Amino acid sequence: MNFAIIGAGLAGLTSAYEIRKQHADATIDVYEATDRIGGKLFTVPFQAGPTDMGAEAFLYRRKDAVEFFAELGLTDSIVFPSGMKSLVYTGGATQPLPAGGVMGIPASSEPLAHVVSTETAARIDDEANQPGIDWPVGGDLNVGTLVRARLGDEVADHVVSALLGGVYSCTADDLGVRATMPALAEELDRLVEAGEQATLTGAVRNLAADKTKSDEPVFGTFKGGYTELYETLAEKSGADIYVDAFVSGIEKTDGGYKITGGQDTIYDRVLIATPAPTTALLLKKVAPEASETLKAVKLADSALVGMRFESAEGLPDNSGVLVASDEPDVHAKAFTFSSKKWPHIGDRGGALVRASFGRFGDTTALRASEDDLVDWALDDLEKITGFDGRAAGLEEIYVQRWFGGLPRYNETHLATVEEVRGHLAGVAGIDVTGAWAGGVGVPAVIADAKSAAARISE
Ligand SMILES: Cc1cc2nc3c(=O)[nH]c(=O)nc-3n(C[C@H](O)[C@H](O)[C@H](O)COP(=O)(O)OP(=O)(O)OC[C@H]3O[C@@H](n4cnc5c(N)ncnc54)[C@H](O)[C@@H]3O)c2cc1C
Repeated sequence: MNFAIIGAGLAGLTSAYEIRKQHADATIDVYEATDRIGGKLFTVPFQAGPTDMGAEAFLYRRKDAVEFFAELGLTDSIVFPSGMKSLVYTGGATQPLPAGGVMGIPASSEPLAHVVSTETAARIDDEANQPGIDWPVGGDLNVGTLVRARLGDEVADHVVSALLGGVYSCTADDLGVRATMPALAEELDRLVEAGEQATLTGAVRNLAADKTKSDEPVFGTFKGGYTELYETLAEKSGADIYVDAFVSGIEKTDGGYKITGGQDTIYDRVLIATPAPTTALLLKKVAPEASETLKAVKLADSALVGMRFESAEGLPDNSGVLVASDEPDVHAKAFTFSSKKWPHIGDRGGALVRASFGRFGDTTALRASEDDLVDWALDDLEKITGFDGRAAGLEEIYVQRWFGGLPRYNETHLATVEEVRGHLAGVAGIDVTGAWAGGVGVPAVIADAKSAAARISE
C-alpha cells in the first residue's frame, strides 16, 4: 500500500509513525513545503542550549500523550516547570495572575478582586442571582459576548482575554466556549439538561468542587526541546520525508491519487496534515464540499522574540506575565521568563525570555521589522517588570514569525470540523488531521493524528 502525507508538522509525523505500525512494508511519503520538519514545533540551537521558538510545553496531565512519549523512548527527556507563579499586567501594574477558575472565569469575585473594580466584583458575585444563560446544549457561544454580558468587560479584558490570548492568539471575542473550554461547556450542558439554573460562576464552582487535587505537574517539556519529539517521530516512522516539497493539489486517477508537486507514485491513501486553509485548497478537486466548508476556518498570526541575557539580575521570580487585552501602549501580549519557568534552562545561567506578539485580526507584529520587534520586546519588558534587558547584556536574539500560527477556535469552529468530517466520510482514501481538526495543544494534535492514522490504515 502507498501512503502520502502532506505536512511534516506534529500531526503529519505522528500519523506517519502510526501508519508504519500498521503497515510495516508500506511506502509512506511525507511532503513538507518548508526546508525543515516540525511545523509549529521548532527548536533553535541557541549557544546556551536548545530553545523552543514555537510550542514550549505540553499538558502533562494528558496521560495519552505521556504514554505516547514513553512508547517513543522519551520519558527520560521530560522535565517540569519550577512552579513559579505567573503575573498579569493590567491598569499599568503587574499583579498576581488570579488563581483558580476556568481560563480566568471565576466562581466568585475573590480571586479577581485585585484586578477589577468594586462594581465588577459585585457583579461577579451577583451573577448566580441572575436568570440562567440561554445556553445551547451541545452547541457553542462566543466567550467574549457571554463573559461581557454576565460578568462585565473588565473580566473579559483584564483576565480572560489575557489568559486565552496566551494560548490561542485571540481575544475572548474571537473564541468559542466549547471550542476552548470544553469542560465548562459540558457543565453548562449538564445544568440546562438537569433543569438547573445555568450561570458561569455556578458552573465554574461545580467544576472546582469536582476536581481531585493532584500533586502532579500540570505541564512538561523536553530537556532538549521539541526537536527530540519531531526528530524521533521522523526517524521511527521510517517514512521518506521530502522537504522543500510544496504540494499544490491532489487528483484522483484510475488507480488512486496523484500529488501535484510530489513523486510520480500513485497513492492508495492521502492524509492531509496541513493548516485549514491549505487543507481546503488541497481538498478542492477530491472533496469539493469539504473544501468549501473548511474555508470558514481562519488563522491567527503571531510573532515570538527569544532573548538571552548575560545577567538575570532584576528579572522577577515568576514564570511569566500576561498582558491584559485593553492595556494601552504595550505591544507584547505575553512574556515567558523561560529561565525562571524551567529549571533546566535556568541551570544554563543568565536569563532567557520569550516575548509574544499578535492576536487574531492584528497583524502589526507580523508586519513589523525585526529591529522594531526586538525594541518593543525590550521596551515592554522594562516597562512591565523594570528589567532593563539592554543593560543586562543581550547575548542572543531570535525572531520567529508565525504566519497563521493557530486556527481561530471560534463558536462555529467545532460545527465546521464536524461538517468537514461528514463530507469526507464519503471520500475513500482521503483523510485530514491537524490542530484545526483536533484542538490546539500537542496532546490533542497527537490524539487526532492517531485517530486519522487508524482510519486511513484500514
Ligand atoms: C507560537 C506558538 C506557541 C505554541 N505553544 C504551544 C505550547 O506551549 N503547548 C502546546 O501544546 N501547543 C502549543 N502550540 C500549538 C501547537 O504547536 C500546534 O497546535 C501544533 O504543533 C500543530 O501541529 P500540526 O501538525 O497540526 O500543524 P503544523 O505544525 O502547522 O504543521 C503543518 C505542516 O504542513 C506544512 N505545509 C503547509 N502547507 C503545505 C503544502 N502545501 N505542502 C506541503 N507541506 C505544507 C507546514 O509547513 C507545516 O510544517 C503553539 C503554537 C504556536 C504557533
